[in-house]
Amino acid sequence: MIDLLVVGGGPAGLATAIHGARAGLEVVVAERRHGAIDKACGEGLMPHTLRHLHRLGVHPHGKPIRGITYQDGQRQVDAPFKKGTGRGVRRTVLHGALLDAAAEVGVQICHDEVRAISQDAAGVRAGRFRARYLAAADGLHSPIRRSLGLEQPSAGPRRWGIRRHVETAPWSDHVEVHWAAGAEAYVTPVADDCVGIALLTSHRGGFDRHLEEFPILRDRIDGHPHEPDRAAGRVLLVGDAAGYVDALTGEGLGLAFGAAEQLVSCVVNDRPEDYDRRWRQITRRYRMLTATLLQASAYAPARSRIVPAAVAMPAVFTGVVNLLAQ
Ligand SMILES: Cc1cc2nc3c(=O)[nH]c(=O)nc-3n(C[C@H](O)[C@H](O)[C@H](O)COP(=O)(O)OP(=O)(O)OC[C@H]3O[C@@H](n4cnc5c(N)ncnc54)[C@H](O)[C@@H]3O)c2cc1C
Repeated sequence: MIDLLVVGGGPAGLATAIHGARAGLEVVVAERRHGAIDKACGEGLMPHTLRHLHRLGVHPHGKPIRGITYQDGQRQVDAPFKKGTGRGVRRTVLHGALLDAAAEVGVQICHDEVRAISQDAAGVRAGRFRARYLAAADGLHSPIRRSLGLEQPSAGPRRWGIRRHVETAPWSDHVEVHWAAGAEAYVTPVADDCVGIALLTSHRGGFDRHLEEFPILRDRIDGHPHEPDRAAGRVLLVGDAAGYVDALTGEGLGLAFGAAEQLVSCVVNDRPEDYDRRWRQITRRYRMLTATLLQASAYAPARSRIVPAAVAMPAVFTGVVNLLAQ
C-alpha cells in the first residue's frame, strides 16, 4: 500500500510529494496532465514563497521582484519589500523545477485522472490506487473537496483569470497591480525580455477586451508581440478565428476584410511577425468601443438608460455610430 497518494500534480501537490518523500514516505502523485503545466497565474513569487521553495531545493530562474505597486490610472503607491526579494517566474519554469525536484527524491508521477475516492479504517481507495493517506491537491474547484461535502460557500462572485506573456523588457522591478472597475491586472517581470500580465475579472471575455479597462497598461504594451499571438510561425489567424469581442456593434465582417488585407500584405512582404501588431491597430477602435458598450449593457440600470441617453443626446449617438462606421 502507498503511504501517501497525492491527487493533483500542481505546485501544492508536488511540494507535498517532495516533503513526503524526504520524510521517508512512499509517495505517488496522480496528475491527469503531462509535462510542465501552464496556467493563468500572476507568476509573482513573494519572498516567503521563495523561502519555501529554497527549503524544497527548488531554485527556478526568473527576475527579482522588490515590491508591489498599486495603481488605478490616477494614483500610484509603491510598497517595497522590507526583507528579502521575490521573483517573477514563468509558471512552466516553476512547474518544471518542481517536477525535477520531485523526480530527484523518488516521487512517482502517474498520469491518471482520479474520479472517485472511498475510505475505510485502514486506508483510502482512489481508482487503481490504494494508500494509507490521500492528499487532495486538485485545485481551486477541487472535486474531491466537493465529494467529501467539504465545499465552502463561495465568498463572492466567481472570478476568471487570463494571462498573456508580452515580449518587452520589464519596466519595473515591482509587481504592478492595476485596478479597474471590474478587474485587476497583475504585471510581473519574468525574464529580461518578457512581462507576464494576468487579468482577474468577474466577467467573462477575452484578454484584449479586458485590457481596454487598463488604458495606461494597454498603451505601454501596444505593438509588443505576445504569446499566443494571432500568428504562430507561418500560421496567421483571420476573421472570427483571430478574436471577436461581440456582435453588438456589427463590425465582424468589416474587421475580417481589413485583417485579410493586412494578412496578405504580411505574407507578400514575408513578415508574419508584423501581423499581430497590424491587427491590433485596425481593430483597436472597435475593441475599445465594443468593450465599453458591452460593459454598460451588462449592467441592468445602465442598459435601460442606453436608448433614452441616445434619444437625449443624438449628436453623441451619431458620433459613436460614425466612429464605428468609418
Ligand atoms: C489570475 C491568477 C493570478 C495568480 N497570481 C499568483 C501570483 O502571482 N503568485 C502566487 O503565489 N499565486 C498566484 N495565484 C494563485 C496560484 O496560481 C494558485 O494558488 C496555485 O496554482 C495553487 O496550486 P495548486 O497546486 O493548489 O492547484 P493547481 O495549480 O490548479 O493544480 C491542480 C492540479 O490538479 C490536477 N487535477 C485536478 N483534478 C484531478 C484529478 N481528478 N485527477 C488528477 N489530477 C487532477 C490538475 O490537472 C492540476 O494540475 C494566481 C491565481 C490566479 C487565478
